[in-house]
Amino acid sequence: MTVTLLRADGAREHLSDDVLDELDAALRGTVVLGGTDPGAPEPCPEWNAMYGDPAALTARCTGTADVVEAVRFARERGLLVGVRAGGHSVAGLSSVPDGLLIDLSGMRGVMVDPQRRLARVQGGALLGDVDRETQAFGLATPLGRVSETGVAGLTLGGGYGHLNAKYGLSCDNLVEAQVVCADGSVRTASETDDADLFWAIRGGGGNFGVVTSFTFRLHPVGPIVAFAGVMYPLEDLGTVERSWREYAAAAPDEVTTFVVTMTFPAAPGMPEIIHDRPVAIVAAVHCGPDPDEGMRVLQPLRELGTPLFDLSQPMPYAVVQASFDPFFPRGALRAYWKSQYLDELSDDAIDTLARRAADRPGPITLVNTFRLGGAVHAVDPEATAFAERTSPWMVSFDTMWSDPEQDEAAIAWGRSAWEEMTKYGNGRVFLNFTGRQDEPLQAGTDTAFGRNLRRLGRIKADLDPDNFFQMNNNIIPTPG
Ligand SMILES: Cc1cc2nc3c(=O)[nH]c(=O)nc-3n(C[C@H](O)[C@H](O)[C@H](O)COP(=O)(O)OP(=O)(O)OC[C@H]3O[C@@H](n4cnc5c(N)ncnc54)[C@H](O)[C@@H]3O)c2cc1C
Repeated sequence: MTVTLLRADGAREHLSDDVLDELDAALRGTVVLGGTDPGAPEPCPEWNAMYGDPAALTARCTGTADVVEAVRFARERGLLVGVRAGGHSVAGLSSVPDGLLIDLSGMRGVMVDPQRRLARVQGGALLGDVDRETQAFGLATPLGRVSETGVAGLTLGGGYGHLNAKYGLSCDNLVEAQVVCADGSVRTASETDDADLFWAIRGGGGNFGVVTSFTFRLHPVGPIVAFAGVMYPLEDLGTVERSWREYAAAAPDEVTTFVVTMTFPAAPGMPEIIHDRPVAIVAAVHCGPDPDEGMRVLQPLRELGTPLFDLSQPMPYAVVQASFDPFFPRGALRAYWKSQYLDELSDDAIDTLARRAADRPGPITLVNTFRLGGAVHAVDPEATAFAERTSPWMVSFDTMWSDPEQDEAAIAWGRSAWEEMTKYGNGRVFLNFTGRQDEPLQAGTDTAFGRNLRRLGRIKADLDPDNFFQMNNNIIPTPG
């Protein structure tokens, strides 16, 4: 029996049983033939149901040595390769139905060194894995807002979350990474070793190799933090967001805040007044040491209008980190997200957001506005590959639906809302919130990386001249 895989050059490669046995013998983990082995579902399926097809061949890795073997195997045969950690790429970048998937979901270990305030995290860990271990010591590193997201994709693409204003992006807190490069070599990258690689992986995505471990700097956070979650009627978004804008612009760095609009589900335990009700949720975390003081600082967010319901209270940080999880079940939703940065959140921009939020194509589509600044902006745009260090606002249209028949209409809505917003944007986008769907893999890399794109192209040419790692926001190898 043979399995046929797509090569990176578009040709087909037929792999015999003997060849597959060779890979199987080389791994401590296992080899799974997708599609032919219904009894072996992928352990970490793609989050976006549009990209749910299993890979033709999956190497379930248990450690760095397995990754080296999988990279060498694929390289010798010119196979198209995907790498998956948390599978939360909205654009389906870790989905390779015709290729070889390097699956890291068996690599979720987290080791905390509380004395040195460092956490070493394996390449397939999810955010919740890290928060769980670090919170055992009252520590945290900035990560995202949904606990099943992969640490790897999030960090390699920047990493926005509840601690940004005080402690920066996830990638800003990286102090070391172990990387399996395209030639199969294993490098340890930090400010002092392989500094170009270290620079590139802080924002440049999965272009430069498979990161098998990340070492993060930790900060004292929680265990209780102040949380604001205030639901206003969606009809009031225009006035609420104007007042939120004033608050957010003057808030101390302990506060990270955003506004999300959705139709709240009829969730058990929640008051009927918000069941199936379009709402604008003003959310914020104050990460300072005194939650009562934090609640006082957040109080104005509870008075931006007349709330329908108010969830604000001091909360365990780990609970806050998982509080948005129910809205983002894995493998159940189809999704097309698009974002852009704004230099100014003008009244006209707010009115446009309010209008588009009112005509969302379905209840689970979100229209979000994020306040950015503080420690994120304290980093020089050229100090890491992540170039966006000046925009105070980001908006994202997270179009989500479940019926495949709605694909075309939902994506069209997401595109048109995003395009309408471009007259207020500064032309830059956040690559981790991008919808692919017939868009080229390089879409947006020029604006996202700005001046850093040239250096990224050179580092890519050094480390991966054949573009072996291309299932990502792809940087074309550019020698020179
Ligand atoms: C529900 C949801 C919530 C989100 N919330 C946030 C948020 O709060 N903040 C934020 O900044 N972003 C957020 N994102 C975006 C998210 O950060 C990106 O989609 C990210 O790529 C997901 O990482 P992953 O490891 O789960 O993805 P995967 O789909 O596994 O991988 C994404 C990309 O990274 C590459 N990759 C994965 N692992 C490795 C590795 N170890 N080494 C090298 N390359 C690798 C893949 O090949 C692919 O190109 C969210 C996305 C979703 C779907």
